[in-house]
Amino acid sequence: MNVTIWNENIDETNQVEKVLEVHPHGIHNTVKDIIAELGDDVHITTATLQEEQIGLPDEVLNQTDVLIWWSHKGHDQVPDEIVAKIHHRVLAGMGLILLHSSHYSKLLKTILGTTGDLQWRDDTYERIFCVNPTHPIAQGIPENFELGVEECYTEYFDIPKPDDVIFLGWFDIGNVFRSGCTWTRGYGKIFYFQPGHETNHSFFHPHVRQIIKNGCKWVCPTAYKENFGAPHIDVTLEEIRKANQ
Ligand code: ZN
Repeated sequence: MNVTIWNENIDETNQVEKVLEVHPHGIHNTVKDIIAELGDDVHITTATLQEEQIGLPDEVLNQTDVLIWWSHKGHDQVPDEIVAKIHHRVLAGMGLILLHSSHYSKLLKTILGTTGDLQWRDDTYERIFCVNPTHPIAQGIPENFELGVEECYTEYFDIPKPDDVIFLGWFDIGNVFRSGCTWTRGYGKIFYFQPGHETNHSFFHPHVRQIIKNGCKWVCPTAYKENFGAPHIDVTLEEIRKANQ
């Protein structure tokens, strides 16, 4: 499995201390450490906004089975041309995990087709409930767990109706959020997961790490669609069958 982890890396580049305290090597490398726990069969690449072609030239994208995405301030700096390439590749089968503030990414808006809008508030306390315990992404996760301090994201979350809601976040200001949702688009599987604000420690929580690893395995393609288009049927299957009789 080839996993590419993309991070806008803006706060890290600007040496924002509160972010570097939590992610000294950048959020992409924090997430890389999580995915590395899946073992040697996983080949991991990291990519950031600051790199040539934002680190996602064709030779990287075309080899990627799972793309993990974290963006916040830099959504609009992601070139439309690359969004279109990712969209096409997801439709062909590439798995996509959208983390935390990626709810406003061009990827979510383009691939899912809604605004990704929500309401938010800093520094609340979150408990996460597993509301779909038989789903592969929920394996090893208890009925509920304390996440601790996390940014509140709250309903209404403007997403298309998910194939599955796996996790529900409850916040101590009284609000709730569909914090783990899946969709399929074409051959591609998509998982959105809410924890992971840049100054919080959610990515170090054992259950969050397990969920991201489970998600990576779940979105990993089981099949790719090779060709798009609508070719004319020149010879029918029945003609072939009869010719072979
Ligand atoms: Zn945030």
